Amino acid sequence: MGQAPANLDSVCVFCGASDAADPALLTAAADLGRALAAADLKLIYGGGGVGLMGACAVAAHQAGGRVLGIIPHFLKEKERRLDVVETITVTSMHERKMMMFEQSDAFVVLPGGIGTLEEVVELLSWRRLDLHAKPVVFYNADDFWAPLFALFQHTVDQKLTPPDFMKSWISVSSIEDVVPALTAGAPAPAVAESMSGVT
Ligand code: AMP
Repeated sequence: MGQAPANLDSVCVFCGASDAADPALLTAAADLGRALAAADLKLIYGGGGVGLMGACAVAAHQAGGRVLGIIPHFLKEKERRLDVVETITVTSMHERKMMMFEQSDAFVVLPGGIGTLEEVVELLSWRRLDLHAKPVVFYNADDFWAPLFALFQHTVDQKLTPPDFMKSWISVSSIEDVVPALTAGAPAPAVAESMSGVT
């Protein structure tokens, strides 16, 4: 596992909060947590102890990694806030998403439900508007994200989205490939600084 470049210190993980997910996905989430810790990348995540997000955060923490959870007050019980890691409590979903964005140099998207979809679509829409150049890496286990990529392509085919939008993310099919993909996708520091327009 190579070391991340200097301009890549923190990685936000968007992923499902369901404990009923396929155990293989929960294992993959834990593997990612350990991979981030091994690369000394700080995990920024939704602050809960459930589903893939809990598995990823607990594994990163147990491997000695840095972890920051960001959770809205009203979800602290429902998503079983993790007490063992640094956690910031916010007032709303919007505040959570904005803080997760601001705190993160790059993003990883694991399989998830409607919440994960909402988060990543907003992130990619900001990318489409050139509001940021932060790398976005999808863990496309068993083609989980293929229907979403096909929908994006459909909007391109219909001339509703520019073709180069399809270059806005990197898709990998194994967890070992995630950190190298983040490293490869990290913009040069000068570019990163000039694209900090999301406020
Ligand atoms: P899900 O993929 O539906 O399991 O949700 C994954 C995570 O996304 C959960 O922690 C949700 O609380 C979170 N989430 C859902 N909608 C939003 C939103 N609009 N803003 C921020 N987080 C959200």
